[in-house]
Amino acid sequence: MPDTALPLPHVTVEPNPEIAGGRSPAAASFGSRFGYYLPILGYHSVGQNLWHHVPTVSAAAFEWQLAFLKKTRHSVLSPNALADLLEAGRDWPRNATAITFDDGYEDNWTVAWPLLKDHGFPAIVFITPSEIGLPGFMNWDQVRAAAEQGLTIGCHTMNHSYLPSVPDERLHQELVESKTTIEREIGRPVDFLSYPIGGFTQAAQDVAKRANYRLAFTTNRRSFWPGVDRWALRRVKITDKDRYDLTLRVKLSGYYDCFRQLRKPS
Ligand SMILES: [Zn+2]
Repeated sequence: MPDTALPLPHVTVEPNPEIAGGRSPAAASFGSRFGYYLPILGYHSVGQNLWHHVPTVSAAAFEWQLAFLKKTRHSVLSPNALADLLEAGRDWPRNATAITFDDGYEDNWTVAWPLLKDHGFPAIVFITPSEIGLPGFMNWDQVRAAAEQGLTIGCHTMNHSYLPSVPDERLHQELVESKTTIEREIGRPVDFLSYPIGGFTQAAQDVAKRANYRLAFTTNRRSFWPGVDRWALRRVKITDKDRYDLTLRVKLSGYYDCFRQLRKPS
């Protein structure tokens, strides 16, 4: 496959309408669709496929993908750097991306993290306190060691609950008690949230904002709001099949977002 670069659309991050107190002026224009495309990569398990329902990327494919990011001079931003950019409404740097993992599989620590370290790439793992220590998942010792080494730990609710089905009175447990539980265990702040299965509601977003999450990540779901929504950042799912320059390049570009079907938030 020839290593030819697709012309990337100009990417400018629009300030979040929630922060500005109104709707993003970019909302009205079709062109704005490119303006807020953030190629944030979404992974689950890396290594051997233990469960059929869990999307798994082999270690070889993952290593190829990291080498591709390096070869194409992508800068991989840490969640904090990403939050700094979005909070300031600054331009999204060309060729920037971020790497995320959902669920907290043990292989994120044993397989993915050593490869990430080799490449000098930051990443975040979103964990679910009720699943910590279950077979195939990281235990608290591993989570603490990961945080110590610089792997950012985020929250993926207390019970891996699909938030649109969670009654309002349980949102605090799912989004806030989970956060404080992880903070207590790792001894550092937990500033980032990922919605299980990507589902969220305005009530869930409100609780997340009040709990001082800096960012929240969804899957391929639209926000309720136009423009950049820091509490509904879309991700692009990376699979084991993404081992070709062209497919990965398209996923990292705004073009992919043009063609894929975006789902409703809930
Ligand atoms: Zn999940």
